[in-house]
Amino acid sequence: MTTADIKALLQAHGIVPNRALGQNFLADEAAAQTIVAAVNPNQFPVLEIGPGLGALTEVLLQHATRVVAVEIDAAMVRILKSRFDDTPSFTLVHADFLKVDLEQLSPFLDPACVVAANLPYYITTPICMKLLTSSLPIARMALMLQKEAADRFTALPGSRQYGPLAVLAQRYFSITPCMALPPARYYPQPEVDSVVLTFTQKDDVLRLPTLPNVLAATFAMRRKTLFNNLRAAGFSKDGATALLEACGLPPAARAESLPPESFARLAECWEPFAFKA
Ligand code: SAM
Repeated sequence: MTTADIKALLQAHGIVPNRALGQNFLADEAAAQTIVAAVNPNQFPVLEIGPGLGALTEVLLQHATRVVAVEIDAAMVRILKSRFDDTPSFTLVHADFLKVDLEQLSPFLDPACVVAANLPYYITTPICMKLLTSSLPIARMALMLQKEAADRFTALPGSRQYGPLAVLAQRYFSITPCMALPPARYYPQPEVDSVVLTFTQKDDVLRLPTLPNVLAATFAMRRKTLFNNLRAAGFSKDGATALLEACGLPPAARAESLPPESFARLAECWEPFAFKA
């Protein structure tokens, strides 16, 4: 969609973009094609978060077996219905993505899916935490993010931005930059620069159901040691000591300095020690 297409569609429906919902619509057709090529939805169903007026949706529908799009705004839903209701491979869910039960979407997204989104930037972290801790069989993702938020996915141990998001993303996916987009490529223009990151699932890595708990406990107080964070999470002295020993981790280490593999080890060993906590 071009800026002229977006303005015409909004005017035809009497709608003003809702900035509180992060409505900065992609007005760059080449960029939409590049994002879709990066996520390569051929033969896959796609989960799209925040389809808006459908700039990415229309390209995704040309390639994917199905597009399941979750949009919160009733005005956008009206427009999306008017554009794509005749397309059998389009499934529109009118809901807040943060409240959607992803289990209910899995029949559409099994046995493997891809995720594409020009994210509403005000809730980038909770959306991505939901995706990264879900059991959805995600093969690839192309996510458009505020530039500063993108750094939190690729941050290395020891840096200020390193945290649960980086650990989860790097543990499960190889992350590559796809492109950068200045504000002029959107209507209305945001005040920030954007980038698209591509996430490709690592083949040899199993999902660890306890990893979110490990990250919540160990990063709870960034400046505290692992031992003290485990104690604050309810572990006994012996339980915390035994868990760290089993994982070969020094009690005085801090979460912010450990690589994703250390958290995976903690997650693998977590349960028997947690029960003794
Ligand atoms: N995908 C479109 C595009 O690229 O032009 C729109 C992207 S716009 C940056 C973000 C979209 O997410 C808007 O349509 C907005 O209404 C929607 N949105 C905001 N919060 C949401 C939420 N909690 N759940 C689902 N959609 C949401």
